[in-house]
Amino acid sequence: MINHRRIIAGFAIGAVLGVLLHAAFPAAPPPLRLFLDYAVGPFGKLFLRLLYMAVLPLVVSSLILGVAEMGDATKLGRVALKTLGLTVVMTTLSVVTGLLAVELFAPGRNFPTDVRDEIVRSGAAPAPPPPAPSGPGERLFALLPMNPFKAAADGDVIGLMFFSLVFGLGVLVAGREKTGPMLKVFEGIFEASMGFVSLVMRLAPLGVGALVLNLTARFGYELLLQLLGYALVVVGALAFHQLVTYSAMVRAFGGMTPGQFFRRCREAMLTAFGTSSSSVTLPVSLRVCEEELKVPRDVGRFVLTVGASANQNGTALYEGVTVLFLAQCFGVALTLSQKATVLFLAVLGGIGTAGVPGGSLPMLIAILASIGVPTEGALLILGIDRFLDMCRTVLNVTGDLLIAVLVGRSELRK
Ligand code: ASP
Repeated sequence: MINHRRIIAGFAIGAVLGVLLHAAFPAAPPPLRLFLDYAVGPFGKLFLRLLYMAVLPLVVSSLILGVAEMGDATKLGRVALKTLGLTVVMTTLSVVTGLLAVELFAPGRNFPTDVRDEIVRSGAAPAPPPPAPSGPGERLFALLPMNPFKAAADGDVIGLMFFSLVFGLGVLVAGREKTGPMLKVFEGIFEASMGFVSLVMRLAPLGVGALVLNLTARFGYELLLQLLGYALVVVGALAFHQLVTYSAMVRAFGGMTPGQFFRRCREAMLTAFGTSSSSVTLPVSLRVCEEELKVPRDVGRFVLTVGASANQNGTALYEGVTVLFLAQCFGVALTLSQKATVLFLAVLGGIGTAGVPGGSLPMLIAILASIGVPTEGALLILGIDRFLDMCRTVLNVTGDLLIAVLVGRSELRK
C-alpha cells in the first residue's frame, strides 16, 4: 500500500532543505514564512484531509468484518478458542510493554512548544476534543453512543469502534444466512476504502516532505533528534517483547528452547522484515510452521491464516507507543482511564489492521483522533515508518508462529 522509498526520499529532501534554510535564516524572515505558509504547508494538509476521509468507513467495515470472522472461527471449536484467547493475551502483553516503555523513557517529553504550536496552527484536521464526562460510571456510558450516525458525524471514533464491535456480535447472533449479503457490502466498503487509501498514499512523499521542510526550516534539526528517541523506544520495546516475552512463552509451553524456536523461524522472520507484510509472508510462515516447527498442518494453517490479520503484536505495540509519544509531544495529559482506553484501542488495532505495509496508519489516525491528539502527528512519524514497519512485521509473524506452536503442542497432548 505504501511506497516507502519515495516517502523516505520525501522526508530526507524536506529535512535537508529545511535544516539548510534554518542554518541560512535562523529567524525565518517574513518572505520565508510566507513561502512556508502558502507554498509548502498546504501539501501536508491536503494529504491528511484525504486520508482522514477514509478512516471512518475503513474502521467501521474492518471491525465489523473482523468480529464476524473471529466469531465464525469460534465455531471451529477448541483450536479456535485457544487461538483467540492467546491472541488477546499476547497482544495485551505487547501493548503493555510498549506503554510502559514510552512512560519510562518519555521520548516526547521535551518536544519544543513552538514546534508543537506550529503543527497545531497549520493543522489539517483538528482532533475533536475527547469526551469529558465526570464520574467513572458516566465515563463508561459515554463510550457507548446512543446514535451511531451522530457519533460518526461528531468524529467520535471510540463510540464508532464500540458500535462496530457490538454490531459485529449482532451479526454473529443473527447468523451468516441472514447477514451474508450485508457482510458482502461491508467487504466492498472495506476494499474500496483500502483502494482509496492506496491512492491517497501516492501523495505521502509530498505531504511528509512538506511537513518536515516546514518544521525544520523554522526550528532546525532538534525535531529529528526527538523522532530518533521515539524510534529507539519502539524498537527497544519490540525487541523486549520478541526476546523476553516470546522466549519465556516458548520455553514454558512450547517444548523447545528460544534458540531453537528463533532459528527455525528465521526464514519467516527475514521475509517479514524484507516485505513489511504479514499477508505476503503467509506462505513462508505456513511452510516454516509445518516443516521446521513440526506443528500439525491443520492447526498451523488455521492459526496462521487467522493470525496474519488478527494477531499483530508488533502493530498493536507500535500503535500504543506512537499514540502516547504524540500525546507527550503535543502536551496532551492523558488520565489513567484514557491510557486504559489507548490500551484497549491498540489491542483492537492489532486485530483490525490489514497485514500489508503501513496497514496500521488508518487505525493509528482513528486512535489519535479519538483521544484528542492532533492527527498531524501521524505525518511526523510517517517519514521514519519504513524501518519500524519492517521490525513490527517481524513480531507480527513470529507471534503467529508462537501461537501455532503452543496450540499445536497442547493439541498433541490431548
Ligand atoms: N505491515 C504490518 C503487517 O503487515 C501492518 C502494519 O503494522 O502496518 O503485519
